[in-house]
Amino acid sequence: MAALPKFFSPSASNTYQQCPLRWKFRYVDKLPDPPGVPALIGTFAHRVLELLCEEPAPQRTSARAKELARQVWPEISQHKDFEALALTDQEQHDFRWRSWKAIEGLWDLENPSEVEVLSTEKKMRTELSGVPFMGIIDRLDQAKDGTVVTDYKSGKPPRVTDRDHALEQILLYAAAVEAETGERPVRGQLLYLGKETLETEVTEDRLADCTGQLASIWSSLNKDCAADTFAASPGPLCGWCPYAGRCEDGAKEIKRRLAAGRMRQDAPALKLI
Ligand code: SF4
Repeated sequence: MAALPKFFSPSASNTYQQCPLRWKFRYVDKLPDPPGVPALIGTFAHRVLELLCEEPAPQRTSARAKELARQVWPEISQHKDFEALALTDQEQHDFRWRSWKAIEGLWDLENPSEVEVLSTEKKMRTELSGVPFMGIIDRLDQAKDGTVVTDYKSGKPPRVTDRDHALEQILLYAAAVEAETGERPVRGQLLYLGKETLETEVTEDRLADCTGQLASIWSSLNKDCAADTFAASPGPLCGWCPYAGRCEDGAKEIKRRLAAGRMRQDAPALKLI
């Protein structure tokens, strides 16, 4: 029997939905899953925006964000995950430029000086429909009509067909806020920095749908842990799986997609198989 995790986060839930075997490698075997360039750009942008939103509202300017980015840069560049990427000078320059474009992209979506920030990087641990839930909320805002849950994204917005799935994360955060404070947020928003905002009203039905789905995924995970059996679920994301080298089904899938011209030549897992 594999040990159940003490808490279940939206990212662990996504990993399990994508592939139970990948979840097992990551969360039971605790094999490393080092972040690549896009994830570290996200870390850098999140940290700068966290500090920016802790400033008094009038000081949340793009000039101040630039100063904060300079201040935060050593934290990022001296981190072992960043050093492991072994970027050349030019690649490091590109990394900083892309990070700055993400940070500056906040002003395409809102004026942070006009936001009433209640908290940043709020850690939530609570029970949702019987699931021990954990998450970190990037920002909680006070709008005229109530509380708003905000999450920053430094990647591309999802396709139209995947938008509801992307918004489930923010609805789970809203459910956690309600469980902890007794107050239901009015809205959740995903800020795709420099691109667009995805927004959802927080309603009874939407909360019931997403917490119900979380409970069903958790129940399936409980069964897998009890049986110590985790199915491989090969698909296009095998090309980005850090465990492809130890997964026969994943390696076959990557080769099949490559032969059919349906796998990018720069997919990182190609180096693992
Ligand atoms: S390579 Fe694919 S099938 Fe194998 S663990 Fe990773 S995601 Fe799952």
